[in-house]
Amino acid sequence: MLGLGIESTAHTFSCAVIEKTGNKGKILSDVRRIYRPEAGEGIHPREASRHHVENSSIVLSECLQDANVIVKDLDIVSYAAGPGLGPCLRVGAVVARSLSSFYDIPIYPVNHAIGHIELGKLLTGSVNPLVLLVSGGHTMLLAFLNKQWRVFGETLDITLGQLLDQFGRSIGFASPCGKNIEELASSSSNYVTLPYSVKGNDVSFSGLLSATKSVAKKNKIDACYSLQETAFAMISETVERALSFTQKKELMIVGGVAANKRLSEMLHDVCKRHGSKFSVVPMRYAGDCGSQICWTGLLESKVKQGASLKDTFVRQSWRLDSVKVDY
Ligand code: AMP
Ligand code: MG
Repeated sequence: MLGLGIESTAHTFSCAVIEKTGNKGKILSDVRRIYRPEAGEGIHPREASRHHVENSSIVLSECLQDANVIVKDLDIVSYAAGPGLGPCLRVGAVVARSLSSFYDIPIYPVNHAIGHIELGKLLTGSVNPLVLLVSGGHTMLLAFLNKQWRVFGETLDITLGQLLDQFGRSIGFASPCGKNIEELASSSSNYVTLPYSVKGNDVSFSGLLSATKSVAKKNKIDACYSLQETAFAMISETVERALSFTQKKELMIVGGVAANKRLSEMLHDVCKRHGSKFSVVPMRYAGDCGSQICWTGLLESKVKQGASLKDTFVRQSWRLDSVKVDY
């Protein structure tokens, strides 16, 4: 079975083709174009959506070419229906609807966050993990029970990705800034005390963001190092508590921030203490991509008919713990 997946929730417009045989999936192509705001600025939804409109046809045709398929070969088309920025989501939905209605291909609206998890499971081989989803849009600890992902901890304010991006922009980087911060942090080992805020099993990053901005006025490198150490220690504490509570024997990290080596190192240590397996989504597939949407659509097609066009909604706020997972 051959699927096309379209991702356009925020900064990335991406299309991917995956071939599914039984429970196995082979990524035939995954093409992306990323909107980059000016240094110091965040994502402007209208500008990002204009970027997606301008790049959608070239991304789609490159994706089909790389996979060596034509639209008529596709069995399904899926698109990220939320959560995300409204103007951006609508671009992916329009492309998917047009293909579906013109070529009569079944269409599947997919939850973007579930996409991160399902692609992570496909690529790491993880079966029943505790999941840490850390990205621009999410900071959540999740475990699967009775057909739904259950939340064991989340951010009370900004996400881990936003923390890194907002801090990075304040010291002059262009978003996304996680990788720049990781590089600067690696040349310091001078920890400056910063606010550490874990409430129950939730985290709060806004106080940490303000305090790190003050430290950066004296020394940017120490600020990057101390920011990572503090934020990742907070995450590690919640992961450790959730592992202990759920007794899960696997931890899987997904989402753009999963690309960070220091975060992996700290969580690997937590897993060792608990005798749990540690896996992290491969770096190329950590951030937003068409593959996460394509694979989830293919999984859904096992148990669902395609949506009728009137149900091809987009939802800016669509929590993953409200989605029934039947496949
Ligand atoms: P996503 O929303 O899943 O595409 O993830 C994007 C987020 O991942 C942004 O906030 C980036 O700053 C962050 N990110 C990407 N690479 C890294 C890295 N090496 N370290 C930390 N954060 C990263
Ligand atoms: Mg994402």
